[in-house]
Amino acid sequence: MTKAEIIDGKAFAAKLRADVAEGVRVFKVQYGMVPGLAVVLVGTDPASEIYVRNKGKMTREAGMNSFEHKLPEDTSEGDLLGLVDKLNRDDRVHGILVQLPLPRHISEQKVIEAIDPAKDVDGFHVVNAGLLATGGEGIVPCTPLGCLMMLKHRVGDLSGMKALVIGRSNIVGKPMAQLLLRESCTVTVAHSRTRDLAAECRQADILVAAVGVPELVRGDWIKPGAVVIDVGMNRIPGDDGKTRLAGDVNFAEAAEVASAITPVPGGVGPMTIACLLANTLTAARRQMASG
Ligand code: NAP
Repeated sequence: MTKAEIIDGKAFAAKLRADVAEGVRVFKVQYGMVPGLAVVLVGTDPASEIYVRNKGKMTREAGMNSFEHKLPEDTSEGDLLGLVDKLNRDDRVHGILVQLPLPRHISEQKVIEAIDPAKDVDGFHVVNAGLLATGGEGIVPCTPLGCLMMLKHRVGDLSGMKALVIGRSNIVGKPMAQLLLRESCTVTVAHSRTRDLAAECRQADILVAAVGVPELVRGDWIKPGAVVIDVGMNRIPGDDGKTRLAGDVNFAEAAEVASAITPVPGGVGPMTIACLLANTLTAARRQMASG
């Protein structure tokens, strides 16, 4: 029997999406218009196609406009930048998301930097990264934002807690560390060069794993009573010959030691799309307020 509370990301995300839908209803009354999210997909990567489809469906369910742009794999960088520029100037579009990864002939960095920071609902633009790092009010990347919401809901005040983030990517690890620092945690960021990862884990009251290595974190690495957030989404062979989703944490072992843990699937994943919707509404409100 597991001891840890299972943090139900699916239920949490459903509540957040309902809150966003209510916010959208009020926005429509207040401004006489509908918040809009534009999602751009280049190519036919099957995983990306599923993400884009889900994002569009949930955007509409929240009462917002979804503008979907599907471009062929051989779209030039110039043409994609042209579309981003058009969306930047379109008043019906309050949020722009370019689905990553992009084909190799297109610079992701160039495309991200071309998005108006006010419409950058992924929070990847250097202006938003800078605002997060310096305590300003920008747009926070969706996955770490969802992790923080679940942590605060479970723990309350995080101040003074020891937090370990495994992973230092620009989209998860680094912004997660910034958010925890903002909550006055004592933050350590581990990565592939960290010398004794198990020892680092054993110190952590809060452990966020964003690595991409299935079940890397073992039960005996976890401090008793810690709260564990597993961002990992790894496809591995299942017992039935099909593939299954696994996190970066060995769930069965960790659930014996932690006080609370997010499952995979059903933990961080559903929160990411819900936070995208929340970011789009936030961006729309700010754009209306600033004229
Ligand atoms: P990423 O860009 O590949 O970064 C992985 C990080 O993990 C890097 O900083 C890397 O260190 C570190 N790392 C790799 N192997 C390690 C090891 N053995 N020990 C310690 N650190 C190690 O990945 P990402 O985009 O941040 O994503 C991480 C995971 O989260 C993936 O499984 C991804 O699918 C998942 N994810 C889920 C969601 C969601 O919505 N649930 C969203 C985004 C990502 P170096 O920097 O030294 O290379």
